[in-house]
Amino acid sequence: MPRTYDYDLFVIGAGSGGVRASRVAASYGARVAVAEEHRIGGTCVIRGCVPKKLLVYGSHFAEELQDAAHYGWTVERTSFDWPTLRDRVLGEVDRINEAYTATLESHGVERFLERATITGPHGVRLASGREVSARTILVATGAWPVLPDFPGADACITSNEVFHLPSLPKRVVIQGAGYIAMEFAGIFNALGCTVTVVNRSEAILRGYDESLRDRLLQITMARGIQYRFNCPIERIDKAGECYSVKLEGHDAFDADAVLIATGRRPNTKGLGLEAAGVALGEKGEIPVDDQSKTSCDSIYAVGDVTNRVQLTPVAIREGQAFADTVFGNAPVTVDYGCIPSAVFSQPPLAGVGLTEGQARNKFGSIKVFSSDFRPMKNVFAGRQERGLYKLVVDAATDKVLGLHMIGPEAPEILQAAAIAVKAGLTKADFDATVALHPSMAEELVLMR
Ligand code: NDP
Repeated sequence: MPRTYDYDLFVIGAGSGGVRASRVAASYGARVAVAEEHRIGGTCVIRGCVPKKLLVYGSHFAEELQDAAHYGWTVERTSFDWPTLRDRVLGEVDRINEAYTATLESHGVERFLERATITGPHGVRLASGREVSARTILVATGAWPVLPDFPGADACITSNEVFHLPSLPKRVVIQGAGYIAMEFAGIFNALGCTVTVVNRSEAILRGYDESLRDRLLQITMARGIQYRFNCPIERIDKAGECYSVKLEGHDAFDADAVLIATGRRPNTKGLGLEAAGVALGEKGEIPVDDQSKTSCDSIYAVGDVTNRVQLTPVAIREGQAFADTVFGNAPVTVDYGCIPSAVFSQPPLAGVGLTEGQARNKFGSIKVFSSDFRPMKNVFAGRQERGLYKLVVDAATDKVLGLHMIGPEAPEILQAAAIAVKAGLTKADFDATVALHPSMAEELVLMR
């Protein structure tokens, strides 16, 4: 006899992956509920991609205002007010949060704004004490910033708090040199703060093409960002509003804010996964098969909690594929090949496919084409900063294996070009396309 359940699907976590899975499953006729302990929208909407990008836009005006005189504008008495930008950004977050909530509502998805834990293969307990059952459970609880283990780490902020700073700190120390570190280093630097990036290794943005990373390092150093490499933080002491930062082997120095950006750990602690026999990986992630199913047949997981690729559009794809497969009777597996990504540093960088190093290791014989140029708008404004585009090509087949770019609007340009790389086009196909002049993107079809 088939058991009856309160819901066909219970989703834990209303972030990018969970919301997509909930509404698509509901549109297939499933009875769906979702629990969220923070706010609907998850990291991307509430404390990640969206507010971060708005801060990037906001801070970028500094550059535009500096350059404006070269274009004939007289801009007098400029000033910047952090609370205005902060509150407008938080207002936009509220608007999107409401839009996400409305989407769930219009699809008939029941919402519980409280923590949920798993009690068994089909059981969920809500923080209020209510117990519910579901034929299928989807864990989409995302990830959470990792705080390193040094005295004083608790007094620092993470990307969760940075959007709520009461005032703009004059001196900011950022630990880590990955996505979040480089993006906030750019934001704070543009807003006039003194920024020091402290990393445990000598690299920034591990995984991105080396020449682009070097270029970003040079440009950001010229813009005034200071770097301390191979420098673990020994301790941090907070006195009033001031932080004393002690790096191993260095004298202590003062800062007004310390942002920790040393990676994010899957959110599985205390979720009760053991009760349902769901196996966990070494970093607390939930290992899943190519249909996002965990080691328990009725429990699935998508997004950052699986630690596959910690990117919003990937979580959305996984949520969609899960709902199509389990409720739409249309099995889909997510294709993880050629995922484009970008760092919204200043200037931004973006890449898709293999880096030069990866391609050399995998294919041996490759050709690298590059364009190292000063964008017209920089030349005119007297800015020395140069863009760098790089095409990595398989020597045997002429297929473009990777495309990497740093320069103004690189993420916007790369998203379109990524279609060509994903489609497996050749260098000859790029060359056969007539340039769109004058643009920065035309460099893509003019590399010889
Ligand atoms: P990242 O993994 O990008 O970078 C982590 C940084 O912290 C690295 O510089 C690393 O050093 C350093 N680090 C790691 N562990 C420690 C430790 N125990 N002690 C000291 N330093 C350490 O993490 P982020 O926190 O910046 O971002 C988390 C994830 O969020 C990213 O992986 C990304 O997937 C996602 N994200 C994506 C964005 C985008 O798409 N634009 C924007 C923001 C976040 P090293 O590498 O030198 O060893």
